Amino acid sequence: MVVSENNKGAQSLAAAAREPFAWSRARMGRASQSQRLVVMSNRAPVEVVGEGPNQVTRPTIGGVSSTFVRLLEHHGGLWIAWSGGKTAHRLAMPSPDTSRYTVLLLGLEEREVTHYYHGLCNRALWPLMHLMPQMCHFEGLDWTYYQRVNASFAHLAAAETVPDDIVWVQDFHLALVPSMLRKLRANSRIGLFWHVPFPPEPIFRIFPWREELLRGMLGADLIGFHTRSYTEEFLTACERVLELQVERKAGVVNYEGRQVSVRSFPLGVAAQDFARIAASEQVREHALRIQKSLGTPHIILGVDRLDYTKGIPERLTGFEHFLERNAKYHGRVTMVQIAVPSRERLAVYEQLRREVEQIVGRIVGRFSSNGWVPLRYLYTRFSPEELIAYYRAADVALVTSLRDGMNLVAKEYVASRIDDTGVLVLSELAGAAEELVEAVLVNPYDVEAIALRLKEALEMSPEAQAESMRAMREKVNRNTLERWAEAFLTALCESSSLAERAIVDAPSH
Ligand code: UDP
Repeated sequence: MVVSENNKGAQSLAAAAREPFAWSRARMGRASQSQRLVVMSNRAPVEVVGEGPNQVTRPTIGGVSSTFVRLLEHHGGLWIAWSGGKTAHRLAMPSPDTSRYTVLLLGLEEREVTHYYHGLCNRALWPLMHLMPQMCHFEGLDWTYYQRVNASFAHLAAAETVPDDIVWVQDFHLALVPSMLRKLRANSRIGLFWHVPFPPEPIFRIFPWREELLRGMLGADLIGFHTRSYTEEFLTACERVLELQVERKAGVVNYEGRQVSVRSFPLGVAAQDFARIAASEQVREHALRIQKSLGTPHIILGVDRLDYTKGIPERLTGFEHFLERNAKYHGRVTMVQIAVPSRERLAVYEQLRREVEQIVGRIVGRFSSNGWVPLRYLYTRFSPEELIAYYRAADVALVTSLRDGMNLVAKEYVASRIDDTGVLVLSELAGAAEELVEAVLVNPYDVEAIALRLKEALEMSPEAQAESMRAMREKVNRNTLERWAEAFLTALCESSSLAERAIVDAPSH
């Protein structure tokens, strides 16, 4: 999951959940009165569009970002992010109570965007973290700009924060910010959450700037990953690449006289909101309309950004194998694949789009008959309400990511199945599989296995469906998005990589 670039989820979901966070200043420790929360991410919850008098601010929020907005609304604070363009902005954000917060948007030059964002983030770190070394492009200039942009973020943060503030850095775009900020402000309390997987050390080792990246991250007091296995991989990289002393059981890396905590915090979804919207009359009717228009007793659903990590060609080919081997399902099952446009500027994404369209065309051409179309391909982004109607309409959700930090679609599907029906077929290589072990797990590289698991899912008894869905719903309801944020911030406030946290710098402005 990448917090920074998706217009994830729901403004209505965000608006629905305005109750204050349980996490409070009381947990922030002694100096709580002056402490603010500072969120740093590549992209912000708002963007400024238009020029001059026509300029307006519009929200880009939903999903994970909406949680940070709620935290900031409740506690006050600052959000630092790239504006998405060349221009910098300072926005005073309204809040339901008195704790206004500020959004500081950094402008980036075209060359910075090309090398930092499209280059190092999307063509090097993204495939590296997702176990796809063959997709990696390593360019010295990309790394130079990555350092430069991270330094701009760190300098802005140092200028705008006081030492008491709690800084929560998001994701691989800003991996160097923790150490850069610590150099500028030794006593800052800094957390880093890594929203993508972390690869095994032999793969991580191919990154030309592997040491600098790890050192950058280790500037934090607390580093969070989605799963225990990513945490373990990171600790191993610290041991083998930097030859640091690691206390595995405690999840601690000893680094430059500090103790950096490394722990897993599995990201959740706003489960109650999904359940509430799924139960609404409007969504129920929409789901019925979808079922009626598709006209088959069974519906299989795939929902992804159009990204090569999501295993869409493998999934569609698995469905094709299923149709080849199971003629009795012809005319009785429809697969709906929702593909959200993504990173269209990169050639590899354009190639993927063409490949997917080719496979879709082949399946539709091969199997359609008597008015039955086996596969519907929707190249678009739906609103959360529309998406939840699909979640309700589908009796099988098919998630076959080749590698995925968490995969929120899997959890959202579970949260929306309020009657405990439906089956989740889930990639073993998605972070969600570490929690949702009751799903039908599948090796996403094995198209024959996908076909077999699909059949198993379609033929699962209502009792078995209810048993697995109930167990998964309980987990999804327990570990919500809000709990995730609370758990991270509480751990951050309790953790201190500094031997003597009691020394608090005098505010510099
Ligand atoms: N999503 C959406 N509209 C769509 C398809 C997806 O809002 O038409 C949202 C979905 O609800 C989920 C997110 O996009 O919150 C995808 O997150 P996930 O972790 O599955 O994958 P990512 O795109 O972050 O890699």
